[in-house]
Amino acid sequence: MNSEAIRAKDRFLVFGAPAIEEEDIAEVVATLRSGWIGTGPRVAQFETAMAAYKGSPHAVALNSCTAALHLALLASGVGPGDEVITTPMTFCATVNAILHTGATPVLVDIEPDSFNIDPNQIDAAITPRTKVVLPVHFAGRSCDMDALTAITTRHGLTLIEDCAHAIETTWRGRAAGTFGAFGCLSFYVTKNIITGEGGMVLARDEVDAARIKVLGLHGMSKDAWKRFGDEGFKHYQVVEAGFKYNMMDLQAALGLRQLGRVERYWQRRQQIWRRYDEAFADLPVVCPAAAAPHTRHGLHLYTLLIDEAVCGLPRDRFLDAMTAQGIGVGVHYLSVTEHPYYERTLGWGPHTTPVATRVGRQTVSLPISARLSDNDVSDVIAAVRRVLGRG
Ligand SMILES: *Cc1c(COP(=O)(O)O)cnc(C)c1O
Repeated sequence: MNSEAIRAKDRFLVFGAPAIEEEDIAEVVATLRSGWIGTGPRVAQFETAMAAYKGSPHAVALNSCTAALHLALLASGVGPGDEVITTPMTFCATVNAILHTGATPVLVDIEPDSFNIDPNQIDAAITPRTKVVLPVHFAGRSCDMDALTAITTRHGLTLIEDCAHAIETTWRGRAAGTFGAFGCLSFYVTKNIITGEGGMVLARDEVDAARIKVLGLHGMSKDAWKRFGDEGFKHYQVVEAGFKYNMMDLQAALGLRQLGRVERYWQRRQQIWRRYDEAFADLPVVCPAAAAPHTRHGLHLYTLLIDEAVCGLPRDRFLDAMTAQGIGVGVHYLSVTEHPYYERTLGWGPHTTPVATRVGRQTVSLPISARLSDNDVSDVIAAVRRVLGRG
């Protein structure tokens, strides 16, 4: 391997760095100058705009997708003794949110091509205790929503969609996050649009949305955030033991402007995606499966599978070599079964969900932020080819 890095140290390409533009900065500054930086009018505007973009009847902004998942589960009535079926190919937050309700997460393995939960294996995991099925649209690729809605309807289960990767994703023209009772979005710094920290629950039912709003702000009665506004002082009542999960206007300022560019960013990622597909077609790696025909892929993560037996180097050496070339890479994800806490408390291990274990041990995520220039993309391609000895 050529020892000189593709990019100099001071030009290291940070994985997942978000695209921030002048209008974002101006909106944040305007929010600061307005004197109202906490939950307020910009949060309400962001909720309305996202609900319209998604075609969802209701949306409640929160301070993370983790909070969104937690409250969607609570609003579904999930608690101790219940089981929630989910995927091992996800961020730990999905599993932790289930555990925080007192319920037990039950894993169903992924499909080897889509990396999404395998609908054909869900029936066998359903017990009398199952309350919710919680799929993740991995990398922005839609799960099979015909199959998932058929299963949850047949068994009377609640469907909650983890849409942390899936803002732009559709299935037969309908937005991801609107099939179930709830869809949970993330605006974390590496996601397709960002608020720094931030999340949102899409809800089909008005009563559920109202409950989530209350639970997200200490359990205080409706519209408690207005209590310091100009409509006159209002007493609030605590009606539940809620959480401190509200989004700030300072965050929503970013979200509002970012949402205005969501399509432009998606198109930019599509250009990058196509360049990667072309550039890696002759390499001994597995590129992402093409989107299913009647869907729109959210294009959140571009993953390569590095099989040591075929590539001649282990995945972790590939990660180190890419970093040495000046390219930041990610792993999304080690199967959740690999983490010691879940091994110890739930008895999970490599054999619990073998497909996820294999994929998790081979996968690498390449930079695909809309922020990347054409030269950045060329550098990523050159680094991958060089690391695999095809430079
Ligand atoms: C990022 C992510 C989350 C958590 O999102 P936060 O907003 O950081 O809480 C949950 N699930 C998946 C699949 C994610 O990628």
